[in-house]
Amino acid sequence: MGRLDDKVAIITGAGSGIGRVAASLFASEGAAVVVADVVADHAASAVADIEASGGRAIAVTVDVSDEAQIQAMVDAAVSTYGGLHVLFNNAGIFPDDDGGVLDTPPETWARVMEVNLKGVWLGCRAAVPAMLTSGGGSIVNVASFVALMGAATAQLAYTASKGGVLAMTRELAVEYARKGIRANSLCPGPIETPLLAELLADPARRERRLVHIPIGRFGRPEEIAKAALFLASDESSFVTGSALVVDGGITAAYVTPE
Ligand code: NAD
Repeated sequence: MGRLDDKVAIITGAGSGIGRVAASLFASEGAAVVVADVVADHAASAVADIEASGGRAIAVTVDVSDEAQIQAMVDAAVSTYGGLHVLFNNAGIFPDDDGGVLDTPPETWARVMEVNLKGVWLGCRAAVPAMLTSGGGSIVNVASFVALMGAATAQLAYTASKGGVLAMTRELAVEYARKGIRANSLCPGPIETPLLAELLADPARRERRLVHIPIGRFGRPEEIAKAALFLASDESSFVTGSALVVDGGITAAYVTPE
């Protein structure tokens, strides 16, 4: 018995990092998975991995900020697997030139909002009708711990976009609570994925962040994928409108252990 047996799941940004690990995990729990990513080769290789392990998956190339492409992604799920039950809105960007109030370029602000915030909305907008006709579903939107607390190492557009994801997810959850669709946010702390590879490769920048994590290390993608699995599955059937924080204790801490 898999925890996602008979479910069809779309995961955006599933070619790399958290999304890729989640795609394999969801497939191993019985879901038919739509592996969606803007990088076609990465989506295809993630599908090959899943198939090699006996799972079911298809690759879809999508830019989540594009309305027509997002609709085509949902249509592919429905036409291939007959419905849609889970949407893991995981795709996100974290550009190097996203900085403080005075130095974040307006073009960077705009692109981050397009992908990280509008992309999540477009995903929900396309998925909700398909979930309603499939008898209900679960939407998991990736925010971040930076949506909950500020940092002197500013990344203004990213932080604002993730705050928007939190607020939007609450409202979506309330609107559809009696219609069989649950919606929750996931707030990861810093996780060792390609998104943070450059930043964490710099010993000074790495240490500047590590000191704030009570558990004393960065997270692993599978630790976020497992939280997403809980929210995606019926095990979380009374959980909606919540923000699940998986951050090694960062948001709980004022002073961390020696
Ligand atoms: P990653 O860079 O390893 O993977 C992100 C994936 O999203 C990539 O495969 C990329 O091609 C894809 N993508 C980017 N833009 C896209 C677009 N427009 N359309 C479709 N796909 C697109 O990153 P990750 O660390 O696995 O991050 C996944 C999510 O987790 C992101 O939303 C990120 O903001 C969030 N997050 C990450 C961390 C962390 O520390 N890594 C912390 C908090 C939140």
